[in-house]
Amino acid sequence: MKCFARYPLALSAILSLFLACAPVSRADRTKLKPGINSYSPQQDIQLGKQAAQEVEKKMPLCNDPKVDAYLTKLGQRLVERLNTGGIQYPWEFHCVNDKAINAFALPGGFVFINRGAIEAADNEAQLAGVMAHELSHVALRHGTNQATKAQYAQLGTGILGVAGGIVGGAVGAAAAGAGQFAFGSVLLKYSRGAETQADVMGTQVLYDSGYDPRAMAAFFENLNASGAGKAPPEFFSDHPNPDHRIERVEEEIQKMGGAPEGAQKDSPEFQAIKREVAALPAPVKGKPAVSSGGAAKSAPIELKVEDPSPDLTATQLGKASLAYPANWKYYNKKNSIAILPPGGVVDSGNGQNAIALGVIGGVAKIKGKTSSNDPLTEATNRLLEALQKENEGMEIQNAPAGTTVGGQRALSTYLRSNSPAGGPEKDWVVTVIGPDGLYYLVFVVPESTKGRFDKSFQSIVDSIQFRK
Ligand SMILES: [Zn+2]
Repeated sequence: MKCFARYPLALSAILSLFLACAPVSRADRTKLKPGINSYSPQQDIQLGKQAAQEVEKKMPLCNDPKVDAYLTKLGQRLVERLNTGGIQYPWEFHCVNDKAINAFALPGGFVFINRGAIEAADNEAQLAGVMAHELSHVALRHGTNQATKAQYAQLGTGILGVAGGIVGGAVGAAAAGAGQFAFGSVLLKYSRGAETQADVMGTQVLYDSGYDPRAMAAFFENLNASGAGKAPPEFFSDHPNPDHRIERVEEEIQKMGGAPEGAQKDSPEFQAIKREVAALPAPVKGKPAVSSGGAAKSAPIELKVEDPSPDLTATQLGKASLAYPANWKYYNKKNSIAILPPGGVVDSGNGQNAIALGVIGGVAKIKGKTSSNDPLTEATNRLLEALQKENEGMEIQNAPAGTTVGGQRALSTYLRSNSPAGGPEKDWVVTVIGPDGLYYLVFVVPESTKGRFDKSFQSIVDSIQFRK
């Protein structure tokens, strides 16, 4: 199902505010905590794991056990000094056979380091700096934090804002959009505010692990310097350069009392691994070396959604109560809702995000006198027209059929369209007139799920009760 709005994230502003508010004494380090997040740490791990499987399919890995073992050992040394707020992440470290200077970490602790980054690092401390930066994105849960904000932004301005209602015969551009969840762009493309946080925490981790805390800043300076006359290194497209990056890192080192004497800069092991990496064969053809964002955004994503929880959570829509699987996420704005299983919103390509699986619904006011003596059918037809207008190729499969919802006469209509996850999509529309307007729910599901979610959808419909 299509989704219009992009996400105008003013994250850097919000995050720098956060930084400014963090308690700081001159003699103390900056304290950092994860921001707003509607995902659980368990969901970070689940999403990251799914994404990591995609990455492993689409990106050429180095497949050199020596290199991966080295990265894992170095990564674990840093993880020991990383404040995850008590969350245990299943850390994984992989070398990617890509000469572009880049590294990225998926939510939940799946860290990928391009061979280009290893080759560009002068010493072990610099590589440790890049990795500490990535680990900090995981610990601060930046991927799902930004996804959360994107969803809120979307829900504020997109679908839930426009499901305004049937006014003078026009259905608002109802029910066409979706919550936001950009796989590639939101999970991996960080705001400058998030970058500053990862720099600051990464510097602390370096310091605490016994590495020269100036190494990460030195690495970024190298990248900047090498960029003269060339395209900027890939790293900066996923990790945009915040203003005063180097100065902020140096400030943090001063807060911690300055770079300790005798801090580690290099190891013979690192230099051996650097030679090992330099001798790796070029990337295998057919698995193009691409940036992380590109890899994640290319083909439609195979939808992997956990089973709906048998436990239900109750909520309200207008004057109706209803219940949905407890592991699904609920979004509400005025008289509109979206109920989405984790992973139900995908990037359908070109940075467009769309619901592949989930429920959207709302209450639409029926204003003025209706021309027919069957307002339910009339309002339903308008809703269906609006849905078809917003979703190219959407076909109505049956004339609205009578059913009962919350003790009221209701209509059930099936539509068919193209799923953003690939293949055909089934859209089940249930409409009923409640005390204050037309209540509608649109259940969106790829046909490939073969009825796996039918029971949950039906149980949501069955749970609807109107307040008198
Ligand atoms: Zn970053």
